[in-house]
Amino acid sequence: MFILNGSKDKHMAKKPTIGICRVCGQKKTLTEEHIIPRAAGGGDKIKLYSGDELLKTLSDDEKPYGKIKQNGHAEYTLCKTCNNHSGSSYDKDFSDFYNTITLNILKDITIPSDVSREDYLEGKRLEVELRGIKPLNIAKRILVSFCSVEHPGLTDRKPEIRKAIQDKEYRPKTDNFSVYLSLHVGSPAYYGTVAALVNVNGNYTPIAYAGIEADVLGFHLADHDEHLKGGGLINCLDITEWLTRYKYNEIANVRLELMFSKSLMIRFPIPTDK
Ligand SMILES: [Zn+2]
Repeated sequence: MFILNGSKDKHMAKKPTIGICRVCGQKKTLTEEHIIPRAAGGGDKIKLYSGDELLKTLSDDEKPYGKIKQNGHAEYTLCKTCNNHSGSSYDKDFSDFYNTITLNILKDITIPSDVSREDYLEGKRLEVELRGIKPLNIAKRILVSFCSVEHPGLTDRKPEIRKAIQDKEYRPKTDNFSVYLSLHVGSPAYYGTVAALVNVNGNYTPIAYAGIEADVLGFHLADHDEHLKGGGLINCLDITEWLTRYKYNEIANVRLELMFSKSLMIRFPIPTDK
């Protein structure tokens, strides 16, 4: 049995509230955190698909309902200290990376007029050589996004993720998670987040999987080496080593090979009851 996040009450009051910061774990006033930084367009108008809406894509009859969000997707999940720290430490490098990929991809792709965008792109490979990026900084901002999605508990039980965000220089142990990059064929207006939960003794517990898809890029957090198990992450690029191989602010040239596929949201590894 599994459920998806994105419960019906999640679009309710969005005013600042006291809560547990997803990064430092302290009880504080929570501030608005954009899942994708504003510098990467994360504050622009989007159509947001929550997890239970995306579940409808599994059915032939139902279409998912996307909610228009005028100022992007943001949640009150981080305290001001962690929000500011993340912004000043990682946002620029992530945004440069994100904008380079999304703008280049969108600019260079011409879809023939007699075929749909989805059908044309599905299964196509894209190779990009990125010069002068800061892999550790970028990967850490991706971890911040996972801490910030609406569903609590996803990263709470992975202290290495939180420590890696708090300490710029720290290179985390990654033996219980992997981070992936994907390309999907959705439109630039498409945006969705999802987390999978497994029912353990009557309590829904997040497993280590979450997906964020924005523009044509997707980010996924899963169990270590989940892509080797033949599930939905099989065509994703494992970028976990960006967290362990590089230092903070270290510059590198990175070659990415990515395959376009339809939304991965519906292909996440479905947990089984234990
Ligand atoms: Zn905090």
